[in-house]
Amino acid sequence: MKLHEFQAKQIFKDYGIPVPEGKVASSPQQALNAAKELNGPPWVVKAQVHAGGRGKGGGVRVVRSLEEVKNAAAQILDKPLVTKQTGPQGKRVYQVLVEQGVEIDRELYMAMVVDRSRARPVMVFSQQGGMEIEEVAARSPELVLQQFVDPGVGWMPFQSRALAYSLDPLPTPETLKEIITIMGNLYKVFISLDCSLAEINPLVITKQGHALAIDAKISIDDNALSRHKDLQALDDPREKDPLDAKAAKYNLNYIRLGGNIGAMVNGAGLAMATMDVIKLAGAEPANFLDVGGGASEEMVRRGFEIILEDENVKAVLINIFGGILRCDVLARGILAAAEKMEINVPLIVRLEGTNVEEGRRILKESNLKFLVANTMAEAAELVTRQVSQ
Ligand code: GDP
Ligand code: MN
Repeated sequence: MKLHEFQAKQIFKDYGIPVPEGKVASSPQQALNAAKELNGPPWVVKAQVHAGGRGKGGGVRVVRSLEEVKNAAAQILDKPLVTKQTGPQGKRVYQVLVEQGVEIDRELYMAMVVDRSRARPVMVFSQQGGMEIEEVAARSPELVLQQFVDPGVGWMPFQSRALAYSLDPLPTPETLKEIITIMGNLYKVFISLDCSLAEINPLVITKQGHALAIDAKISIDDNALSRHKDLQALDDPREKDPLDAKAAKYNLNYIRLGGNIGAMVNGAGLAMATMDVIKLAGAEPANFLDVGGGASEEMVRRGFEIILEDENVKAVLINIFGGILRCDVLARGILAAAEKMEINVPLIVRLEGTNVEEGRRILKESNLKFLVANTMAEAAELVTRQVSQ
């Protein structure tokens, strides 16, 4: 679960990481009122969307008059914000964060993430902040430093010093102390909230020599959400892809991918294998969808709907090995979905396992048009041929 910047900043504040004073507004008038209660000029008006790169896309405005605050808010709220991370259609902005602006001397990068290959958290730090860290890593990898955390020991003060004393030129001892405190507190946020990411980009050193988090990004590991009932209220369903939201609602494991073959499969292992054979046959899967080993007719129906609602899908491969999910239940689920929707793409079905005869009979006796495959390889070839014609 991703948090908005203003939500992440509230958490930072609670954990002793300094952030600028700010208020959320959902209209230009509210933004104006907010600015009046904050010290300025300058003020900063920032689009609240789950996407980075807002600065370059016009979603972050540093302004010097109340009039400009109102105009900036109106412009940001008026149309979808397009950034490198939103795709060309952009994202609608429902709220802006109005903040007291700061005079920036230096922009640093600081983040805590999970290093999967080492199975431990890592603090990533760079004196080249404010831009995408991937870019810095590609251009000047020596400027991206890492400190791995031993999970049994936790974050150690020497690790903060190892990172902070790399700064060139070295800030004053007071500033260094602030940066070091922020590192320890960022680690506390990361661990206490079961984050997959806690990022400050940029962490600035102000002209007055204070360290301040002027941007904040937090992602919480969804698998840990049951331990954080209080955080669940921070979820913003408006930010989700509608198909993802629908899949989550019906407990389907669904991940959208870049290709054009919709795949409906039961069981994660079979889903992975199905994606592999699709690729082997020369095509690309449009999604990973595991309806689950024990899916109900309702889940099958919803899963099939989600695949068909994806505009990129040009053919659908249904690959089911009936175990706990019986083939007849699957067939009924598909027919239930087909009754409600127009199916304009070829369907390829490969069924095996429990009640397979009954499942095949149900499909055959319906007026659904589909191609039958006997093996996975055949299914993949058939579906690939459909999209390459
Ligand atoms: P992002 O582009 O979505 O990552 O949004 P950020 O919150 O990181 O803001 C982008 C850039 O706007 C920062 O790197 C700063 O250069 C600039 N910026 C943000 N807040 C302030 C501020 O208070 N004062 C000044 N001068 N610049 C700011
Ligand atoms: Mn940023």
